[in-house]
Amino acid sequence: MKTALARLLEHLELDPQALDVAESPFPFKAHADFIDQIQPGNPDDPLLKQILPIRAETFVHPGFKLDPVGDLQANPLPSLIHKYHGRVLLMASPRCDIHCRYCFRRHFPYETQINQRHWQQALQQIGEDDSLHEVILSGGDPFTLSENALLDLVKKIEAIPHIQTLRIHSRTPIVAPSNAPQGRFLEWAKCSRLNKVLVVHCNHPNELSAKTAELMQHYRTAGFHLLNQSVLLKGVNDNAETLADLSQQLFTQGILPYYLHQLDRVQGAAHFEVDNATAKSLVENLRRLLPGYLVPKLVVEIAGEPHKTPL
Ligand SMILES: *Cc1c(COP(=O)(O)O)cnc(C)c1O
Ligand code: SF4
Repeated sequence: MKTALARLLEHLELDPQALDVAESPFPFKAHADFIDQIQPGNPDDPLLKQILPIRAETFVHPGFKLDPVGDLQANPLPSLIHKYHGRVLLMASPRCDIHCRYCFRRHFPYETQINQRHWQQALQQIGEDDSLHEVILSGGDPFTLSENALLDLVKKIEAIPHIQTLRIHSRTPIVAPSNAPQGRFLEWAKCSRLNKVLVVHCNHPNELSAKTAELMQHYRTAGFHLLNQSVLLKGVNDNAETLADLSQQLFTQGILPYYLHQLDRVQGAAHFEVDNATAKSLVENLRRLLPGYLVPKLVVEIAGEPHKTPL
């Protein structure tokens, strides 16, 4: 039996050996919507690089850790991460529609960390802390929940009087737009008293398509503010033209760039790292090429800091 990865490479007419493909405990995973955006025959395709497990992931580099952002320490409850003032992150789902090779959660034991009993405790804790005004659903990916589970969760959040804003961090609208909740979820959103923010995660303009554009239109109509975060990745988006194009294409789909993250130094992702001096000069170039509102904030996450740190 051929693996999904072997079938993909066959479909793309690429040789696994030439690509240095390697098995990984964080297995290959990608949705057909994302795969459709990959250019066949191109071993350097910027989307392929984000999902292809390669031998370089197994190299151990000093300074690259299992939990680089200190999330395991910041967990008062298994599914709640309260690091920043006024807002709390709820890990709503252990799954994603894609496995991004650079992800800092690649070693996170989330399968054992999240279940609905944990939500109950988390929601109770949020309800008791009126310094909180914003709940961020993250994961994994909150849009991998069933529509029923998601609706149940957002309605419980809406019922907490001191919560004003619901923010959803999801890569699903970009990498698997056909899986993103619409129907009853957007009906609920249209009538909800909450401020609603959807932060998608798109790293390269090729990830955007007619499907993502249509989906984003529906979310805007339902009252969501649309923002994007990207991760700066060597060989994927580490040049000013690509990043400028990304910002412009995002804007065309109604999305404003928010953060450009320096890579979290997680074990297995060293080959994606762009050094800080290069990162800063890239953003300097972006300032020359783009209106200010299309330049993302370059940030790095430092364990123990009370906010993301601008570079
Ligand atoms: C990034 C992050 C947030 C959100 O930070 P903003 O700067 O408001 O976007 C909140 N909680 C945690 C744990 C985070 O990592
Ligand atoms: S979708 Fe987000 S959380 Fe999931 S693997 Fe990719 S970067 Fe990590």
